[in-house]
Amino acid sequence: MWENLEVTVEKTPETARKAKPAQDALGFGKYFTDHMFMMVWNKQQGWHDIKICPYQQFHLDPAAMIFHYGQGIFEGMKAYREEDGQMFLFRPLDNFERMNRSAQRICMPRFPAEKMVQWLKALVYLERDWIPTGPGAALYIRPTMIGVDPALGAHPASDYYFYIIASPVGAYYAEGFNPTKIYVSDEQSRAAKGGVGNVKVAGNYAASFYTQEVAQKAGYTQVLWLDACEHRYCEEVGTSNIFFVIGDELVTPPLDGTILPGITRDSVIKLAESWGVRVAERPIAIDEVFAASKSGKLKEAFASGTAAVISPVGELAFKDEIYPVNNGQVGELAQRLYDELQAIQHGRAADPFKWVVRVG
Ligand SMILES: *Cc1c(COP(=O)(O)O)cnc(C)c1O
Repeated sequence: MWENLEVTVEKTPETARKAKPAQDALGFGKYFTDHMFMMVWNKQQGWHDIKICPYQQFHLDPAAMIFHYGQGIFEGMKAYREEDGQMFLFRPLDNFERMNRSAQRICMPRFPAEKMVQWLKALVYLERDWIPTGPGAALYIRPTMIGVDPALGAHPASDYYFYIIASPVGAYYAEGFNPTKIYVSDEQSRAAKGGVGNVKVAGNYAASFYTQEVAQKAGYTQVLWLDACEHRYCEEVGTSNIFFVIGDELVTPPLDGTILPGITRDSVIKLAESWGVRVAERPIAIDEVFAASKSGKLKEAFASGTAAVISPVGELAFKDEIYPVNNGQVGELAQRLYDELQAIQHGRAADPFKWVVRVG
């Protein structure tokens, strides 16, 4: 059904192009490139008006479905550029396949994932001068789908926009690869079994902001979420997956429906296994983590996600207790994973799992 879809390219006139921001002031998601990808869906035509066009605003009806019932999904991925001009995407098809699972879960139309990788490559190539090359810097890519027709009935939209915007971003940690302090929440939950925690739907993030603010006011960077039923098992940290090294085993919670199946998470598991590390995907009670911290068996904790790749955890706080991890130092495995993943993403290391897609 998708064989005949073609993309048209409408370039932004040179004179209308934006000045590029200084590489050392990029931050995260503050600047957007000159072009975007865009397509429209309705029942009669399916996906149509497929184009790469000048970055532009939308005119939406105030009654557009997205504003009421939150039918919105997104992805987060990165394009990397080397000094010599080579450009790479990391596992882009996995992102688009995950986005199709998100679409299906909240009754939005699916799209051709493999074609989307081709269209994304065309967009990234067109925007190649926007890809920063500094250490840790990349072009962050945000595919998004929203329901747009005006209607107030609580039912799925009948018209959708799919678009991709891109933003040059700096190293996630301005202050370096330092361990973060994490706040363990047993009051709110991120996701419940049978809900939408395993898909990247917009409402999940709005629901997490309150607890995130509580944590930040108390001096913590991120929230470690526990399960919604017993407030006992570790699920995720902020918008990243969580790993612990307990004894000589790398452990992470299983994908049981409440956890987002991170592509970085999957890459960490596969890389660690290929190095001979014992990896277990199993429920991890927070008490087990605290006991391991006290007995010295908790060697490392770190989060994984596209934005920061690997984010080491130096301290966990729960109620009035503080549980240090590895004396607040970056762990050996976290450092090795961070270095190796970055090297693969930049095309500098062997790519045994065929994760990297070359652009141009
Ligand atoms: C996006 C996301 C992740 C990380 O996924 P990656 O594919 O590794 O970037 C983890 N948890 C949540 C809740 C997320 O939204």
